[in-house]
Amino acid sequence: MRCGRESSGYNRRQVTRLAGIQAAPFDIAIIGGGIIGCGIARDAALRGLRVALFERSDFGSGTTSASTRIVHGGLRYLEMLDFRLIRLDLRERETLLRIAPHLVKPLEFLIPFFNGTPVSPLKLRAGLALYDALSYDKSLPSRRSLSAEEARAADVALRTPNVRGAAAYHDARVDSPERLALENVIDAEEHGAAVVNYCEAIATTMRNGAIAGVRVRDALNGSEAEIDARAVVNATGAWFEPVVQQLTGRRPGRVRSTKGIHIVCPAVTDRALVLFSSVDQRLLFAIPRVGHTWIGTTDTDYDGDPAQARATREDVDYLLKSVRGIFPSLGTEDVLYTTAGVRALVMQGGRESSVSRMHKVVDGEPLAPAGMISVLGGKITGYRAIAEDVTDAACRRLGVPHRRCLTAKTPLPGGRDSPPAGHTGVMSHLYNLYGTRAAQVMAIARSAPEFERRLSPGYPDIAAQVIFGVRAEHCVRLSDFIRRRTLLGASADQGWKAAAPAAALMASELGWTPDQTAAELSAYELEIERTQAFRA
Ligand SMILES: Cc1cc2nc3c(=O)[nH]c(=O)nc-3n(C[C@H](O)[C@H](O)[C@H](O)COP(=O)(O)OP(=O)(O)OC[C@H]3O[C@@H](n4cnc5c(N)ncnc54)[C@H](O)[C@@H]3O)c2cc1C
Repeated sequence: MRCGRESSGYNRRQVTRLAGIQAAPFDIAIIGGGIIGCGIARDAALRGLRVALFERSDFGSGTTSASTRIVHGGLRYLEMLDFRLIRLDLRERETLLRIAPHLVKPLEFLIPFFNGTPVSPLKLRAGLALYDALSYDKSLPSRRSLSAEEARAADVALRTPNVRGAAAYHDARVDSPERLALENVIDAEEHGAAVVNYCEAIATTMRNGAIAGVRVRDALNGSEAEIDARAVVNATGAWFEPVVQQLTGRRPGRVRSTKGIHIVCPAVTDRALVLFSSVDQRLLFAIPRVGHTWIGTTDTDYDGDPAQARATREDVDYLLKSVRGIFPSLGTEDVLYTTAGVRALVMQGGRESSVSRMHKVVDGEPLAPAGMISVLGGKITGYRAIAEDVTDAACRRLGVPHRRCLTAKTPLPGGRDSPPAGHTGVMSHLYNLYGTRAAQVMAIARSAPEFERRLSPGYPDIAAQVIFGVRAEHCVRLSDFIRRRTLLGASADQGWKAAAPAAALMASELGWTPDQTAAELSAYELEIERTQAFRA
């Protein structure tokens, strides 16, 4: 690696980030720190490869942060007869429950049947039987049927005479896919990987007609460096096409991008529900999360910049209209905020929601020159298996003898030991976020009385988490801490009451000036405003 120009430092910890990366060459440089890029970094590092990972924003801040946050085979894909995808994801659901028990937790879904439900209960029950059969190796309970009376007792939203019964089945939830991505980064780093967020790949370097590395720019201080790598992986998801164009001048046209949004409302259901849109019969979810109900998602073709995707008034109206039968009193004024993200699907014609979510790994041509491995499509649920496929392809390219993939059997850092039983209050909150790494947060909390304090009386989060975020979890912007290291961003005010105290702690750790601190607060306020764009 050759380091280039360094301009004025953003903060004292960040000035030397690129200079600090271990000496070249790397075996593999990964572009894109979403769940898939982070998973690849971990797999490759655990197999002993020399790994570098570059994310132009924060780890897990792209599509990964805009998902419905369920770890599932996908009931919807049964209709598309996509059994290979469903089976892979059901196997991976089990793997994630095992390697990340603090982040991935079982969740029971109810499918209520009403008079006039557009899908036949018989067909749904047959689908659930098949779903159970495809997850023959699961640890989760099997499906069950609920009578009308049992369905009404199960959830407040179902207390209506119109309910004829329900079917129930288990999948899993991941409240923070951002932390799931991050724990992959942390494990990769513990196994020698160099990982840098806020660092964009801006060009490739070529040798003998093949890609031989990438040029990267640190977004925090403008410094640039050339990284030599024997293989470069493009794991930029919805950014795939523009990144290939920028780095290689090609436009492969192999990704179909669709936008999906959620609306977040005050709690209107205690249980996760599968619903069918009364507008077009599409399958939707209403899921309890951090005290609210998340309703989504949409699936519409999108050709703009993924970073600019927003929920529009039309998107919000569609969702509200779709669920009016079950939540009649829910209106636009109840929507606390929205999320929006862009799926990158392997190009296929037809209706947006009928396009397969199966991934594809292509080594070199025809998508990119030799030396670049492209990964397209995929879901959060299958990220570990996708990372395994990519790392296998990288090992083949590098000509290294086959090294066994270890990620299915090796717990993520927070899942390494069992947490002590019987913890409550703040400790319980910390274990849910950090798993057994919560002990490290508590050690910081005990080191100074001010670190034990809550950031704001309304939240369980404490000051020590900010310090831990900066020192141990690559937290460099205020939004990293609020949205991606904690669940503060999912609260009704999106963590705004914690923003000033958290910014003050980050300022003292990172040496921000008062102007930089104010700029961080303004930037976060702007992010909140974007979630309200549909009101315009
Ligand atoms: C609305 C919605 C709901 C979904 N729900 C679910 C669900 O419930 N369960 C599930 O399993 N899946 C779900 N998915 C799918 C899932 O979210 C995605 O498949 C997954 O997050 C993709 O991860 P990724 O790493 O490929 O992409 P991303 O998370 O988008 O990561 C790509 C990264 O590349 C970075 N990048 C771009 N250009 C550069 C560059 N030049 N240099 C460096 N970095 C760069 C970006 O900043 C970005 O962070 C959902 C998707 C959507 C849109």
